[in-house]
Order: sequence, then C-alpha cells, then structure tokens
Amino acid sequence: LVAPDGSSVPTIFAEMTALAAATGALNLGQGFPDEDGPEIVVEAARRAIADGVNQYAPGRGFPDLLAAIAAHQQRFYGLELDPARQVLVTVGATEALSSTLLALIDGPDDEVVVFEPYYDSYAACVALAGARLVPVPLRWPDFQPDLEVLASAVSDRTRVILVNDPHNPTGTVFSHAVLEEVVRLAHRHDAIIVTDEVYEHLVFDGPHVPIATLPGAAERTLSISSAGKTFSLTGWKTGWVTGPAPLVSAVLAVKQFLTYVGGSPFQPAIAAGLRLPDAFFASIAARMKAKADLLGTGLREAGFDVGTPGGSYFTVVDAAPLGAVDADAFCRDLPLRAGVVGIPLTAFASPAHRADYATLVRFAACKRVEVLEEAARRLAALS
Ligand code: PMP
Ligand code: GLN
Repeated sequence: LVAPDGSSVPTIFAEMTALAAATGALNLGQGFPDEDGPEIVVEAARRAIADGVNQYAPGRGFPDLLAAIAAHQQRFYGLELDPARQVLVTVGATEALSSTLLALIDGPDDEVVVFEPYYDSYAACVALAGARLVPVPLRWPDFQPDLEVLASAVSDRTRVILVNDPHNPTGTVFSHAVLEEVVRLAHRHDAIIVTDEVYEHLVFDGPHVPIATLPGAAERTLSISSAGKTFSLTGWKTGWVTGPAPLVSAVLAVKQFLTYVGGSPFQPAIAAGLRLPDAFFASIAARMKAKADLLGTGLREAGFDVGTPGGSYFTVVDAAPLGAVDADAFCRDLPLRAGVVGIPLTAFASPAHRADYATLVRFAACKRVEVLEEAARRLAALS
C-alpha cells in the first residue's frame, strides 16, 4: 500500500472525498452523513468534557457504556450479555474488526470466508493477520449468495465466517436462509462467526435480525457495531464487540496493544444515545429509507438501472445503460461530467474478481434531502 514515490495509497473513500473537494462535486461517495446526530448526545459529550471525563477509560470501556450496550442488545434483540465480561468498547467498528481478526487468526493456514464485494478493511485486516481470504460472490441485482457456493467455500480450514448485514457496499439485507446456512456451516466446521452490523438500525423493512439471535449462533459469534451510523457521529469512532466472554477477552488482549482505549468523553454520550427511546431508532430507519427512495428515483430518472437496498446508507446502480464499461473510469469522470461523486464497486472486490462488477457504482443516500435533490438534477443531465 505504498506507492513507488513513498506516499501511502489512500483508501477509495479518502480518494473520492478528495476528488469531490477538488472538483466541488456533491459527495455521494464516502458514507458519512452531512448532518450531525442528536443534540442530546452531542451535549452529553460536551458535558462529559466539562465534568472532567478526560483521562483514560478502563480497557474494556466505562461500566456505564458496557451496561448500555448490553441493555441495547437485550432491548432490541433479546440477547442477554454480562456487561463486565461479554462487551468491549473499541475505536470504531474498524478497530473491533482488526482486533477481532488479529485475535482469532492463528496463522497462514487459516481462512476467512467473506461475501464479495466487501468493505475495504476486511481484506486488509485478513492480510495483516496473515490469513487467506476466501470470497463468496454476491451478484447484481439481488446480491444474495448462492448457498451451494457458500457451503463449498467453508471448510475445516475456515477460522472465521465474516458477515456484514446490512451489507456495505450493496445495501443488501441477507435472507434468513443465508444467515441459517452461515450458522450451520460454522457449527459443522467449528468456525467463529464475526458479524459487522454497523447498519443495524438502518434496515428499511425491519426488524434487523442479528445472526447471534439464531439458534446455536450466540456461542460462536462475535457481533460488532458502532455509534457512527446509528447516531450520525462517524467521527467519534466509538464501536463495540459483544459475544462469548473468552472470545471477547481474546479481542481485548489484542485491542489493548492497538490503541489501549479510545476517546473517553464520547463513551458516556454514546451510553445516553443507546438509551434513547425506541421512537428515535425507528425514526432513523424511516428517514434513511425516504432518502434512499429519493436517491433511487433520481438515479432511475438519470438512466441508471437501480438496485433496491434493504438497508444501510447505500444504493448500487448499473451504469451500463449510460454507456459505462468501466465503473472506475466512469466514477473518475462523473464529477467533471455531472458534479457528483460515487464509488465504483470494483473497489470492494479482489483484483481477480473486479470484472464481475465492472459497470456497478455505489451512491450514498446519507446526505441532506436538498443535496440528494440537487444530485438528481445534476445527474439528469447525463442522459
Ligand atoms: N464496517 C462497515 C460495513 C462500514 O461501512 C464501516 C464504515 N463506517 C465500518 C465498518 C467502520 O466503522 P467505524 O467508523 O465505526 O470504524
Ligand atoms: N464506511 C464508509 C463507507 O463505506 C467509509 C469509512 C472510511 O472512509 N473508512 O463509505
């Protein structure tokens, strides 16, 4: 990841956000909201700073946040967790993922099965941990995996089956049959399920079904989430891992040497956020669905074939009807042609499989309604 001139190669998100800034284009690329989350949560962080919550937190996190995370899992999913042993606060879902994979992977014979396209840090962390990535393809337009292909990817070499539901970049919510098959295969091959559910509260026709709630799953599942998406506070980088106590302890053993702990004053604020009434959580899903619908309409009118996301920030389109043959080139050109930034799906695939996603583009709906409307006006000029 270091270029010949010694500079480091930026992630696709950093690169496309820089392109949006350089061209003045609307940034429907990187998935971050352009409005901050609930004032009550932001105010709680200000208060924490004023009240002196400014030194290191305990390694697992402040007990109040651990309790709030456990209570959240109980309230929404009926999962019973011991906050002192089965919950760990991390620096975003990103560190939850990296420390989990580093903790679980023993060596180069271990395999991590992952649905492709995948969030960029997955392949990077599997490489850092020195294991082998085994991708299972998701195909346009429904992006549900073929269960036989999934079964053939899992073997006794599989250490981890890594699931992301709702899924970035496709917006897919996996069917119950897919989740059940993951659990069955994990049992059969004695694998651990790692599930990244950062979009858990952005499922459009809910409720969200965490894989840990399926029969036989909790005992071998580490569930990861983050405050970033639920509270529109992506810059706070506060996430968590929950699951069986020995597995969570293994993750802590690694995490303490990656960052030790994250930003203390955010923790009481996120605890307050997790205790917001059900109506708050229902409202964010409804608002994101309305935005995804608005974005979808604009994209359809512009001439794209538009996928139907079940949740998350993202909508995938096929740009082939607009003449695209290479989504990467199309996305680099789009800010100049239309003043809008999107991300090519090829950026989420391993080099050998990029051709399978050659004309697909991801757009983020997590922007203000005026921005989505302006994007639709600009994109209309394409056809
Ligand atoms: N997983 C997925 C699927 C994501 O989309 C993101 C990006 N927000 C992350 C993990 C990272 O989350 P965080 O910002 O909390 O580290
Ligand atoms: N999760 C965000 C996305 O998918 C990006 C986060 C990042 O820039 N690493 O767009």
